[in-house]
Amino acid sequence: MSDERKPKKPREQYRLRTRLIHGSFATGRWDYDHHVVPPQSSSATYRLSSVHRGAQGFIEFATPESRRAPIYIYDRLDEPSRGMLEENLAAAEGGGVAVTFATGMAAVSGALGILTASGDQIVAHQVLYGCTHSLMTSWLPRYKIRTDFCDLGKPETLASVATEDCRVVYFETPVNPTMELIDMQAVRRVVDRLNTGRTEAEKIRIVVDNTFSTPYCQRPLEHGVDLVVHSLTKDIGGFGTEMGGAVIGANEYFNLLMLYRKDFGGVLSPKNAWPVLVYGLPTLAARMVNQQKSAMHVAEFLQRQAKVARVLYPGLPNFPQRELARRQMTTPDGAFAPGCMLYFELKGRDNTTKSAAEAAERFVDYVAEKSYTVTLAVSLGQIKTLIENPFSMTHAAIPEEEKLRCGLQPGGIRLSLGLEDWHDIIADLEDALEAV
Ligand SMILES: *Cc1c(COP(=O)(O)O)cnc(C)c1O
Repeated sequence: MSDERKPKKPREQYRLRTRLIHGSFATGRWDYDHHVVPPQSSSATYRLSSVHRGAQGFIEFATPESRRAPIYIYDRLDEPSRGMLEENLAAAEGGGVAVTFATGMAAVSGALGILTASGDQIVAHQVLYGCTHSLMTSWLPRYKIRTDFCDLGKPETLASVATEDCRVVYFETPVNPTMELIDMQAVRRVVDRLNTGRTEAEKIRIVVDNTFSTPYCQRPLEHGVDLVVHSLTKDIGGFGTEMGGAVIGANEYFNLLMLYRKDFGGVLSPKNAWPVLVYGLPTLAARMVNQQKSAMHVAEFLQRQAKVARVLYPGLPNFPQRELARRQMTTPDGAFAPGCMLYFELKGRDNTTKSAAEAAERFVDYVAEKSYTVTLAVSLGQIKTLIENPFSMTHAAIPEEEKLRCGLQPGGIRLSLGLEDWHDIIADLEDALEAV
């Protein structure tokens, strides 16, 4: 009888949306076959049945063996809830390993921390998440790690900025908040050329912050990137209740990432890993599908408004980098997935940036006071639609001349679409537009 039954279909043959829900809920990390939902674990230290087992745990820590059947010793070293989340994050991004951190910034620090040492150079895109920018300009220089910024929108500029000390090329795509895209394969080609003749240790690695797109809309490892970083606080967590971060890449990075995390200590608490494992990641695709639909409707609405100067959303037919968007921003099944973030600028009374900035402030303040569906708050990727003014808020750390030079306008508004009915979001935005 059993011979005639079809063999069990390998998990990899199911679509991402399905795999995110069911994950790998059977694991060598922990035997809980009879739970439908993984139990919450909370144990700072672990009972060791013998000195030998304790010694073995320390020897195997951060090695490939410890991934197959870990000997748990102490939460900061390794822990099952976090480990389960890591397995599922790695699978979603198509990476060998994921190592989680307490926040997105701890993950960014971890990725840069394992790839650089004193005397090294980082080359980064000129517009970055504010805290990433200040990490590179305020803190890393103390360790004699310098960052040179350039326009990676023109990948060839990298060749003139990178020195022989360069170890990392770092960027976000889409760029926060301007939604400009960076061609990952083009950066890869330039880096491959620069890496010719370099030893493994000297090679430049490409690190991409994929927080804006999530693995549902874009998987940078497929485009030649070496390490992906995430803020789990955003769309992957999805509900805005936990902070977290992750670094995802090939197996070879596991050892250093685990050792770095152990000593710098920015581990993700298992109590925070659990909701991301149970609620966030499994619902990622379902949320993104719907948030993305709303983003498209709202982008089209904004584009029709006389008071709106321009709308930047990769899903719009007139998006300046539409070709690139279609190539990079896709679901694993190949469907175009432009995400749920958009950026737009209001026109001022006259053509000055000052009057545009005033219009944006009035608009966002009106929303903050009167709107039910749109909330004035930093952060993004939640089930609630969030609005902010990046120039004065999230990107305040970047010098003003630099922001203007990079196309970040005082009158710019960033919108992160949530799961509300899009008709209601548009109605609230329409009211606010009337008020300016
Ligand atoms: C929020 C964010 C971060 C930092 O993540 P935290 O979890 O807040 O530390 C990094 N990059 C991008 C693009 C972000 O949006």
